[in-house]
Amino acid sequence: MPVSSPSAAADAACRPRVSFELFPPRNDAAALALGRTIDRLAEADPDFISVTFGAGGTSRGPSLTVLRYILDHTDVEPMAHLTCVGSSHADANRLVREFLDAGITSFLALRGDPPKGAVDGDDAIGDLASSAELVQLIHRVQEEREPFGQSRIPGTRASEIRDRPRPERVAVAAFPTGHPRSRFPSQDIDALLAKEVAGANLAITQLFWYADDYLGFVDRARAAGVTMDILPGIMPVTTPARLRRLAELTGVPAPSDLAIALQVEPSEAGQLEIGVDYAARLGSEVLAGGAPGLHLYTFNRHEAVLSTIDRLTVSTPTRSSLSERIEYTI
Ligand code: FAD
Repeated sequence: MPVSSPSAAADAACRPRVSFELFPPRNDAAALALGRTIDRLAEADPDFISVTFGAGGTSRGPSLTVLRYILDHTDVEPMAHLTCVGSSHADANRLVREFLDAGITSFLALRGDPPKGAVDGDDAIGDLASSAELVQLIHRVQEEREPFGQSRIPGTRASEIRDRPRPERVAVAAFPTGHPRSRFPSQDIDALLAKEVAGANLAITQLFWYADDYLGFVDRARAAGVTMDILPGIMPVTTPARLRRLAELTGVPAPSDLAIALQVEPSEAGQLEIGVDYAARLGSEVLAGGAPGLHLYTFNRHEAVLSTIDRLTVSTPTRSSLSERIEYTI
């Protein structure tokens, strides 16, 4: 029987806490490759792997398939991103119920962006105005699934109710460099506090490129009363085209030194090195500043994120110390 050495155990205890983000595959070949990626990511013992969800529900089936794969083939907790833009209350209720019934107990609640040109009040916005309302709905659906009055479902025993899947983590998005529609920084903090008050127990940030953006945001959030963990979202970006695309999608301008370095480097291996190095330095800085772990955007590839983790220069609190702090806030 293999026995790990005391120093290996100590290394594992000090390894930074990580989680990963994937998106649903677009075809069968990508689905096959994604299965292998998930297996490799699971070996890093992440806290959870989250799977994105197309605004308007466009990826509902494929997202659920990936989440089920994680649930059935790994020991890792799958986290479902859910968006509610364009949904009625009844649609959103059905969606949450369907994912809970599939055994998913962690969610990243998002409103999601409406189609271009849609304004508040349009059908394209739907019944839920913000992700805070979706957070409340997730908790409400869970409560409705637990008929504590014996009269509601005769014969239902408390032990059966206890064994049903229930939301463990209800996460929300946070925007350290400001949401694209935000006009002043306090709006972003107010939005985050509202999400926590609604029942969120974890925040995951949009990409950012400088440690001070994240650390300053966390300081302002704490001063405003936000108590939940705020996980920094970091991505090793390994091509100039992807860096440009990310800036377009997130509205967060890319750092010019990284853009130039990727642009002038001719080889793929060299670009990988540059992207990993940048992400590992950023990750180490935010961990040193007190971040509770790192949420790594994988772009459905394992190589760059796993190399980033290997290159971190900071050790952090162990798994148990964070999970003790994640509680229901409702
Ligand atoms: P909320 O904070 O609930 O806001 C609702 C709306 O209010 C926004 O759409 C915006 O119009 C406005 N708003 C929000 N904050 C401000 C502000 N500070 N000032 C002014 N107006 C504001 N999108 C997807 O479609 N699918 C995904 O799987 C997905 N995953 C994501 C994961 C992470 C970690 C992050 C950070 C973003 C993700 N997004 C995803 C993008 C997200 O849907 C958009 O960024 C969206 O604009 C904000 O979503 P929200 O749920 O935080 O909205």
